[in-house]
Amino acid sequence: MPVANYEIYCRMLERAREGHFAYPAMNVTSLTTANAVLKGLAESKSDGIIQVSTGGGAFASGVAVKDMALGAISIAEHVHRVAERYPIYVALHTDHCQADKLDKLVIPLVEETEKRRAAGKPNLFNSHMFDGSALPLKENLDIAVKLLERFQKNDLILEIEAGVVGGEEDGVVGKASEKLYTTPEDTLEVASRLNTIKGGRYLLAATFGNVHGVYKPGHVKLKPKVLKECQEAVVKKYGEAARFYLVFHGGSGSSVEEIHEAIDYGVVKMNIDTDMQYAFTRPIADHMFRNYDGVLKVDGEVGNKKTYDPRSYLTLAETAMAERVKLAVTELKGVGTTMYKA
Ligand SMILES: [Zn+2]
Repeated sequence: MPVANYEIYCRMLERAREGHFAYPAMNVTSLTTANAVLKGLAESKSDGIIQVSTGGGAFASGVAVKDMALGAISIAEHVHRVAERYPIYVALHTDHCQADKLDKLVIPLVEETEKRRAAGKPNLFNSHMFDGSALPLKENLDIAVKLLERFQKNDLILEIEAGVVGGEEDGVVGKASEKLYTTPEDTLEVASRLNTIKGGRYLLAATFGNVHGVYKPGHVKLKPKVLKECQEAVVKKYGEAARFYLVFHGGSGSSVEEIHEAIDYGVVKMNIDTDMQYAFTRPIADHMFRNYDGVLKVDGEVGNKKTYDPRSYLTLAETAMAERVKLAVTELKGVGTTMYKA
């Protein structure tokens, strides 16, 4: 199916919250990883989200160019074309974008969507994250308000973050502090600022001890109850319509019980990057170790073209990553939930 349009994406998110499941949002950096996500989602009969980070976009544009918006556009255009061959819906999203990078990623992508809409074409991306978590909440929301006003006119959904996700992702290291846990007061402030924008839709990455990267089980002290408290506070003050659509960042190493509890409190999107990276690389490592004297020209030999052809190991990597996508869908209770009807 084509990439989800605005109406379908909104309905996807509503169905997830009502039905107590969540969509995996997988970071991709290449055609191969994007294809892996589509394969995994299709085999799970689940819709899902493909996302591109600032670093992923830069990588996708090529080491000589390093233009994050250009790389993100390339991946998105590829997905728009090949998604037609898969019987599920996929939404396109961009991940963490700090205030100083908005002009390099989010704004050029919004401009690209505006250009397309003016020409009667569908949006390129469905949603973008602005990560103002390093800023004081007021400044974070000042920027978010401006973005949401512009997004609303273009059928784009905004993701924001209140609180800080610990750990490291894409070279950005989160600070360990009390901000690892979003407070109900913070989220009331978010609602008071963003809910006044008529027609604006947003996702909230509220933090509850999440850490980017991977840690051994038990290392991460998650408190999903924080999400429950935030939802109860906002519904009490602003009514049921204000209930948040929540995003779970830094979920690698979380238990299935913690993930399910977070879903019960309104998580509809769970970002999965680190676990996908490992799933992709694991069979490549295996291939190289097993075919050492084929992938290398050892002792004056010529190696084995069949084993150093990148397609040989990238096919294994794509297949393994697709399997990891299927596991993610299962853990997020999304198997068989696609809205697509053949
Ligand atoms: Zn994140």
